[in-house]
Amino acid sequence: MERVGFIGLGRMGRPMASNMCRKGFHLTVYDVNADAVAELASLQARPAASVAEVAKESDVIITMLPNSAIVGHVVSGPGGVLENAKSGALILDMSTVDPETTLRLAREAAAKGLGFVDAPVGRLASHADRGESLFMVGGSDKDFKRVEPMLKAMGSTIYHCGEVGSGTKTKLVNNFLAVASCQMNAEALALSQQFGLTLERTLEVLYGTTAFNGQLKIAWPDKVLAGDIAPGFTIDLAHKDLTLVVESANAAKVPMPMAAAAREAFSQARARGFGGNDFSAMVDAHCDAANIRKPRLAK
Ligand code: NAD
Repeated sequence: MERVGFIGLGRMGRPMASNMCRKGFHLTVYDVNADAVAELASLQARPAASVAEVAKESDVIITMLPNSAIVGHVVSGPGGVLENAKSGALILDMSTVDPETTLRLAREAAAKGLGFVDAPVGRLASHADRGESLFMVGGSDKDFKRVEPMLKAMGSTIYHCGEVGSGTKTKLVNNFLAVASCQMNAEALALSQQFGLTLERTLEVLYGTTAFNGQLKIAWPDKVLAGDIAPGFTIDLAHKDLTLVVESANAAKVPMPMAAAAREAFSQARARGFGGNDFSAMVDAHCDAANIRKPRLAK
């Protein structure tokens, strides 16, 4: 069995790596947060003291890191994965980054004879906890087959979207709708509250018409509407994704006025101190700004 390195053990990386350990993979793990490393060590993962140590002893190196700059630094910076990986190793980046970063790192990996696959993650953190994530994968057929058993250990739905970069691009298309719909929901529920309508009945109606969307029906009832705003997926990271969408769309000459408006709504929420909350708490940020009572389901 291939030896797997896992770098980035945050809200997503921790359950993904844990599920791999439970399914019998031999992992070497690293995070700048020592507590996260210790938690994985208790599941028989081997703790490493640096990125270089992970790279030196792994056949496949998985990265699950916050943003493009950090992924770029960890993979191709000094002391990074590219400098230290074994011959024939493969890098599997599962973070949400911009397509330029994915393509640049894939080129640099190829120049060193290393494989590269982008496989960003769909669905919620609670799905990752249960090993029910969806992966959108970019890479050659050969590299896809190599990482498929690992993806199956972490998720339940896998789509091979095409060559390297197509996973990242698909993720931006997905997250535009998944994240921007939070602002639409926030405005709709603020209006319902201010009209004095009953939240439960409003939701029943919305779930019964084409107004339905996944955030409102699947994510929100157990999160913000139940009073739970612990992330999940932070407003800060959602803002990062909408910024990737707006900038990539601009580069591709695709006008996306809704994405730009949603991104600025997330900018306002962050400026008002909501950035560390779950992204469902966009409705709290919106209601707070408009002095409207936050919507909560009766317990
Ligand atoms: P997170 O902030 O909880 O975790 C990131 C981890 O990376 C942290 O543990 C941090 O200590 C570690 N880290 C930062 N810099 C590092 C470095 N230089 N070396 C080693 N470790 C480092 O973020 P998350 O929610 O786990 O998200 C990770 C990625 O997955 C992001 O790109 C995010 O957009 C994407 N994503 C998140 C979700 C979600 O629901 N949270 C869902 C799908 C995709």
